[in-house]
Amino acid sequence: MNDLTSNAVREKTSQSGPPLSEPRPVNVAGAPSLGLSQAEAARRLAEHGRNEIQREQTRSPWGVLLEQFRSPMIVLLLGACGVSAMLGEHADAIAIGAIVVLNALIGFAQEFKAERALLALRSMTAPRARVMRDGYAVQLPAAEVVPGDVLLLEAGDVVAADARLLEAHALATNEAALTGESVPVDKAAVPVAADAPLAQRTDSVFLGTAVTRGTGVAEVRATGMHTELGKIAHLLASTSDTDTPLEQRLERVTRTLLMACAAIVVLVAALGLWRGQGWLAVLMSSISLAVAAVPEGLPAVVTIALALGVQRMAARHALVRRLQAVETLGSATVVCTDKTGTLTTGTMEVREVWGANPHAVLFASAACCDASLGPDGKEGTGDPTELALLRAALARGIHREEIERDRPRVAVRPFDSETKRMSVLRADGALYVKGALEVLLPRCNAGTEGALEAMRTLSGRGLRVLAVARGSGPEEEGLELLGLVGMADPPRPEAVTAVAAARAAGVRTVMITGDSQETAQAIGRELGILLPGEDAAERIHARVTAEDKLRIVRRWKERGEVVAMTGDGVNDAPALREAHIGIAMGRTGTEVTREAADLVLTDDNFATIVTAIREGRAIYENIRKTLVYLLVGNVGELMLMFAASLVGLPLPLLPLQLLWINLVTDSLPALALVMDPARAELLSRPPRRPDEPMLGRSQWHHILLMGALEVAVVMGVFVWTDPVEHVERARALAFSTLVFAELMRAFAARSATRIFWEVGPLTNRLLLGVVLFSAGLQLAIYELPAARALFGLGELHLWELGLAFALGLIPATVLEVSKLVRRWKRG
Ligand code: ADP
Ligand code: MG
Repeated sequence: MNDLTSNAVREKTSQSGPPLSEPRPVNVAGAPSLGLSQAEAARRLAEHGRNEIQREQTRSPWGVLLEQFRSPMIVLLLGACGVSAMLGEHADAIAIGAIVVLNALIGFAQEFKAERALLALRSMTAPRARVMRDGYAVQLPAAEVVPGDVLLLEAGDVVAADARLLEAHALATNEAALTGESVPVDKAAVPVAADAPLAQRTDSVFLGTAVTRGTGVAEVRATGMHTELGKIAHLLASTSDTDTPLEQRLERVTRTLLMACAAIVVLVAALGLWRGQGWLAVLMSSISLAVAAVPEGLPAVVTIALALGVQRMAARHALVRRLQAVETLGSATVVCTDKTGTLTTGTMEVREVWGANPHAVLFASAACCDASLGPDGKEGTGDPTELALLRAALARGIHREEIERDRPRVAVRPFDSETKRMSVLRADGALYVKGALEVLLPRCNAGTEGALEAMRTLSGRGLRVLAVARGSGPEEEGLELLGLVGMADPPRPEAVTAVAAARAAGVRTVMITGDSQETAQAIGRELGILLPGEDAAERIHARVTAEDKLRIVRRWKERGEVVAMTGDGVNDAPALREAHIGIAMGRTGTEVTREAADLVLTDDNFATIVTAIREGRAIYENIRKTLVYLLVGNVGELMLMFAASLVGLPLPLLPLQLLWINLVTDSLPALALVMDPARAELLSRPPRRPDEPMLGRSQWHHILLMGALEVAVVMGVFVWTDPVEHVERARALAFSTLVFAELMRAFAARSATRIFWEVGPLTNRLLLGVVLFSAGLQLAIYELPAARALFGLGELHLWELGLAFALGLIPATVLEVSKLVRRWKRG
């Protein structure tokens, strides 16, 4: 403790005077109040602007729109449109053009919406800062910090602005973000030359750097683009979103499909020319094939599924910071979670004080705190453990601010989950220490009698136990143990259900805590993390340090598990990064962990992790089943066109008809399908293997078989209508059969195992609506002669439409029956 500095900051003053109107050096010891008033801060915010680093990478709406026209599919269609126009087929050209524009607009709307959703999320995970306003310590979005604000810093914070230190206790920051130097720099409130190079400005802290240890108070000098980080902001790699692994894998699927299609196009074209067909007919069938094979809806499906899923998770208190996490979440097998505040409520309450003089115990506790109660004496800012102590002290008439006034702090050793203690040296020479009993005992030479005994009783009841001691002089030696404080931190009721749900879903819960083994086990039993006969060493890790966390993650990973790990402390960031899914606490966690995390819990609640896992599984399932649904359609169409040209029949479907099917009767239901709500059954089966491909062998089997079935039905009706004589009527019948088949199959596609009324026909009303809408449009085409002419369709009798509908039921029915057969075979 060599940085003996001035007095402590009074985080709460009863006699808060007028706010400082001008930024001037603050004499901390003599200042009646510190920091700005809200009014002054608002004025400065207007003057200096928000404390933000501008990044130039937000895409303009026009950019997003233009991008829609860059896909090869669109280029191909525009080509087809041009060819039709040149051939004098104006109606065709206009129709294709309209569909292209429609497609681009839908794509634009989806992407724009997704981007906005992600932006909103980013602002929800925006950094925060603790500053003095109107004489109180408050927490604000970092963007609202203004020059002149007084920042309160502690280990784990990311510094919110450039600021000069007024006070520093064992303070060190990591300035790698600025200087590239990864060794923490010691900071002190001792002025250095203003023109010293950045790395030597030890009297200041800088925006974007992380506090690795200690505490401090600093006055803000510069915000936003005027900070050192702001000056180099243009050098920073822009945070352009890279595609998630899922999107990359899908890209590969699309590419495979395109290659297959290209090969077939060449084959069919060669066949046609060899048969002596005109080049126009060959061109037409090539375009049809291309249209048939490309799953237009596919990229949109993934974007929508991810963006909506992420929004849905945000509404349930899980903010996704990296999209990849959504995919990984669903396959998590082990969740390593904090105890305090996550499995427990974290609203602590002092239940018992053990010691010869309880008043002295609470006085010492209040004298050794960093947290501060607000004006109501209940809420406050800072560590919940300390807030509980302060409340208990207040109930006995002990005010922290009076202690700060009468016996100012001389030096502080902040609490650290590594040292598991905190000490404060005061002006009267007394040293107050609080921390874990094992840590304090060796440093005490009085008052220790019966302490271990008492500790065991208290923690056996699940109470969190803190030992309190007093000494004199700066050294933590020869202390007198004043007593113990037992705090209740009851398990969250929803955590009990969540632990059980996770267990049923094949996800192991592992408790990690800095608390004692006895307390942890008592709570672990209460929560059902530790069932009778289970190995406590595997499920509960007590008295852990940050390195332990890293080791625990690695060990699970080595066993091939997919590990989610929560963390809140300064040193937890490496463990969070090492885990497959790093989870940070939104309320009590440090900024550093939030930046390292994939997922942030805004309610710090364990149950939210389980909800997020379920949502993750749902998103994955939805994408998979929608993909399968779309691919059956595309593969079916491809096989249909291929088969027809092999046997030398006329094209069963024209390019425009195929486009219509892909866009209206495939893509629309697909969009509804991908929004299927998460079902409870998702948590009743084991997690999917992380290396399991999205489209595995059984999915491809399904795609090919169902595709073949659709081909058989459509080809059957096409041939039956005598296409050589009445091609337009045959096409009309084939067209509507395929449309109805696709629409009906959407209902069967909702679950791979359950038939449609088990899933609940009304649980996805959007799908119902979309299917009815598409079916209506389909019927409208036949009713409107102009539309019929445009699509090149012959007239159909009502009974023929009925026939098309009945035939269209076949694939969906076969699908449902096959589910029942499979279930029956399994018994
Ligand atoms: P967890 O958050 O997992 O419960 P912590 O690292 O916060 O664990 O705490 C570990 C131990 O450190 C506690 O059991 C207690 O003995 C001690 N401790 C916790 N908070 C404080 C504090 N603010 N000051 C001193 N000691 C503390
Ligand atoms: Mg803690």
